Amino acid sequence: MDKFFSQRTCDRCGGDLSGGRIMSMYNTECICLECKRKETERADYKAAAEADKKAIENGDFNYKGIGLETPKNS
Ligand SMILES: [Zn+2]
Repeated sequence: MDKFFSQRTCDRCGGDLSGGRIMSMYNTECICLECKRKETERADYKAAAEADKKAIENGDFNYKGIGLETPKNS
């Protein structure tokens, strides 16, 4: 988690994080806001967000996310 605040480039696209950083909803990558925006447009984003919420409700704060598989067609 220390790396999250010190790293300067996006884990996903390698872009500059000076514009902001956020944890992926799908895994533990530290990503830029543009990659985050793309995540929210994925068909399975709601499922990922729900799974994350459930994990936290269950006390699992180290939840790793559902993973970044290719979204199902919907
Ligand atoms: Zn990025």
